[in-house]
Amino acid sequence: MSDALLPERLARAITMGGPIPVSHFMGAANTQYYANRDPLGAAGDFITAPEISQMFGELIGLWFADLWSRAGKPEMTYVELGPGRGTLAKDALRALKQVGVEPTVHLVENSPALRTMQEKAVPGATRHDDVTSLPDGKPAMIVANEFFDALPIHQLVKRGDHWHERLVACQDMLFLPIAGKQVPDTIVPEALRTAPSGSIIETSPASVAIARALAKHVVKNGGAALIIDYGYDGPAIGETLQAVKDHAPANPFDAPGEHDLSAHVDFATLGAIAQLAGARVLGPVSQGRWLNSIGLEERAEALRRARPDQAASLEAQRVRLAGPRQMGRLFRVMGIISPDWPDGAGFSHDQ
Ligand code: SAH
Repeated sequence: MSDALLPERLARAITMGGPIPVSHFMGAANTQYYANRDPLGAAGDFITAPEISQMFGELIGLWFADLWSRAGKPEMTYVELGPGRGTLAKDALRALKQVGVEPTVHLVENSPALRTMQEKAVPGATRHDDVTSLPDGKPAMIVANEFFDALPIHQLVKRGDHWHERLVACQDMLFLPIAGKQVPDTIVPEALRTAPSGSIIETSPASVAIARALAKHVVKNGGAALIIDYGYDGPAIGETLQAVKDHAPANPFDAPGEHDLSAHVDFATLGAIAQLAGARVLGPVSQGRWLNSIGLEERAEALRRARPDQAASLEAQRVRLAGPRQMGRLFRVMGIISPDWPDGAGFSHDQ
């Protein structure tokens, strides 16, 4: 899968076939980026909540345990999308086991390097290339943390009075975004059509397809999905495509395959799709509020008591996960739940 020549390959494809949609560029770049590296942690390019603290995965496990208990304790599956190093799965499954829940485990991952790490963290899990092969039959506990932000987006850009699909062109191995073919105004939501020239709108058909599949899965089998990511309520004007390398921003159109490309997640659209598929939607609420209302403080206090030598580090972890100036406000949690299931904790408006 290693393809050090991705920039050359993309440049050739563009020279022969013309500029490509931003989504093709992002999809190819991220497939290459994740294929053969571990991007997470201090030595990598970025850090995620499960890598900051074990409390994150444990609280997700306990959220599902509470739901499982109130749903009558059925046999369930644990499904995770884009599990990274497998840390969240390991922490959540440990917390679930402590309260007597041992689901069968299904991991959806397309990076060979990360699959190898996941096998070590969660031995015996069933691997899936995508959500289409998830088994029916048992209610599911589904988690996707910082997964949807990695999925390809399309961009539309306004030039003068008209909207165009944004494409990626290439000149002397330099990739740059350009306005492509004009698209009919009718594909742009009415309220956004009159935005000023230069405005950008993003959509992610790949994210919509997966959110719909998850909603159908819980409607058919029971259970719930938690989507955790940074995002907004779209469709909206604004470019959110970004690249990160060594914990610093980079140009998303430079060096495809060498940077992590991501875009903010349109929670409103994913929620609407889930509802159309017959599921109930919980939230989204901010990660800070959600974690605090399901017991982050108490969990931190229990760990501090068990390991007084770690008290300062545990407090720092708690603040990073839930502090408003850290991940607490930027990140959101949304539930997609079977219409027949009880509500999950942490989403009610009066908290
Ligand atoms: N959830 C982990 C990792 C986040 S990084 C954490 O919070 O630490 C994004 C993850 O999604 C990686 O595991 C990456 O390989 C995976 N991924 C990205 N695009 C994917 C796709 N189209 N299909 C399956 N997995 C994908």
